[in-house]
Amino acid sequence: MSSSSTADHASYSTTAFTVSGRTYQPPAAPVVVICIDGCGSEYLDVSMARGRMPRLTEMVAQGYLGLVRAAVPTFTNVNNAAIATGVPPNQTGISGNFFLNPETGEEVMMNSKEFLRTDTIFAAAATAGRKVGIVTAKEKLRDLLAAGLDLATPDGGIAFSSEKADKAQFATHGIDDVEALVGEPTPEIYSADASLFALRAGVALLEQGLADFLYLSLTDYMQHKFAPEAAESLDFYAAMDREIGRFLDLGACVAATADHGMNAKCNAAGEVNVLYLETELCEQFGPGHRVICPITDPYVVHHGALGSLVMVHLAEGSDREKIARWILSQTGITEVYDREIAAEKCELPADRIGDLVVLSGRDFVIGRTCEDHDLSQLTGGLRSHGGRYEEMVPLVLSESLNKEYAALAAGDPRNFDIFQFTCNGAHK
Ligand SMILES: [Zn+2]
Repeated sequence: MSSSSTADHASYSTTAFTVSGRTYQPPAAPVVVICIDGCGSEYLDVSMARGRMPRLTEMVAQGYLGLVRAAVPTFTNVNNAAIATGVPPNQTGISGNFFLNPETGEEVMMNSKEFLRTDTIFAAAATAGRKVGIVTAKEKLRDLLAAGLDLATPDGGIAFSSEKADKAQFATHGIDDVEALVGEPTPEIYSADASLFALRAGVALLEQGLADFLYLSLTDYMQHKFAPEAAESLDFYAAMDREIGRFLDLGACVAATADHGMNAKCNAAGEVNVLYLETELCEQFGPGHRVICPITDPYVVHHGALGSLVMVHLAEGSDREKIARWILSQTGITEVYDREIAAEKCELPADRIGDLVVLSGRDFVIGRTCEDHDLSQLTGGLRSHGGRYEEMVPLVLSESLNKEYAALAAGDPRNFDIFQFTCNGAHK
C-alpha cells in the first residue's frame, strides 16, 4: 500500500528546542500526540479488555501505559494550554474555560491566545524545523493552541478544527480545502465523527507530508454521553484504534493522554446531584456573592455548564473563613481553598481564580443558580468533570521509557509532560 511511502522519504528535524526552561529533543520520526478529551483510564481499560483496541493493546505492550495527573480544574482549556506549553496553569494563565476577568469585571470565555502567558511547544518546534500540524475537534481551542505560529507562511504550521474544517484558509489556518484533504465533509460537533475527523485529518497531514509534529485534540461529547461499557463508547474507541494503527503504520512515535476524566454525577435514581451555590450563599450570607462555573463553554449539550469545581467571588467585606467553613460543611462538597492556598497547591494563577475555590465529590456537581443551568438538554443523566476525581488520566506511548523517564513516571508525572515523554523519554 502507499501509506508508508511518504513517511519513508521524509526527513525530520531533530534540532532540540527549549520552552519555559524545558528542553525537547524530537526524534527522527513523526511525532503524534493525541489528547483524548474526557478519557478516564476506564475507557481504555474496558475497550482493551473487550478486544476493541487491538492496535493500542499491541502499542502499550511494546511501549508504555501509566497514569498521570492532570491540572485542576480538570477542564479542557486548562489542560490543553498546559499540554501545549509543558507547564501548569500558574504559568499558562489559563484557569478555566470561562472566568471573571478582574481587569474588566466581566465574565468571559478564556479561549483566546491573548490570555495565554507562555510560549507553546508548537511555535518552538516550528522554529526548530518541524512541520507542525494542530487539529482540534472544537473550534474554541484552535486560537489558543495556534498562539505564536505564523500560519500564513509556508512551513509556519497548520491549525484547524473539525468543527470549522470548511472555513480553513491558508492565510489564517496554513491550509486550504481540508474537506478534500480528509475526504469527508465537516462533521457535526455533537458527534463521534468530530473527534474521528480530527484523527483522520492528522493521518492525511502525515501521509501527504504536510506535517510531522502533530497535536490532535478531540472532543468529549461521547464521554459526556456514554459510560465506558456502553456499546456506543466501545464502537467509538474501536474507530479511534483504527486511526492510531494508521499512525503506527506510518512509523510515527505515538502518544496519547487526556485533559481530564469523566464521571456520572447522579444519584441511584438518575437525578443530578447538584448544589446551587450562589443561591445558597446569598440566602445564607446576603447578596453580592458570585459563583463562576469555569466549565462554561459554547457546548452546553455536553454538561449544562455543571462541573465539580467552581470559583466563588465574595461580596465586599465578607468573612472569608466563616463562609469557607460553611461551604465545606455542605453535602457533596469535598474541598474549599482560599485564593492563596489554591494558587499554591493547585498551581493556579492567583489573579484568575475566585476568593474561594470549591470542589465537589465524584458524583456531585456545583452550579450557580437553578436558572443558570439548562438541564433539559441533558438526556440520560449527567456525566461531567472539573474536580479531583477526574484528575488521574492515562498516558500511553508507543516507545518504552528510558531509565530517566521510567523514574519520572514512578513519581508524579503530569499529563502536560506528554511532549517531554514523547521527545525525550523513549528508550533508544
Ligand atoms: Zn467536557
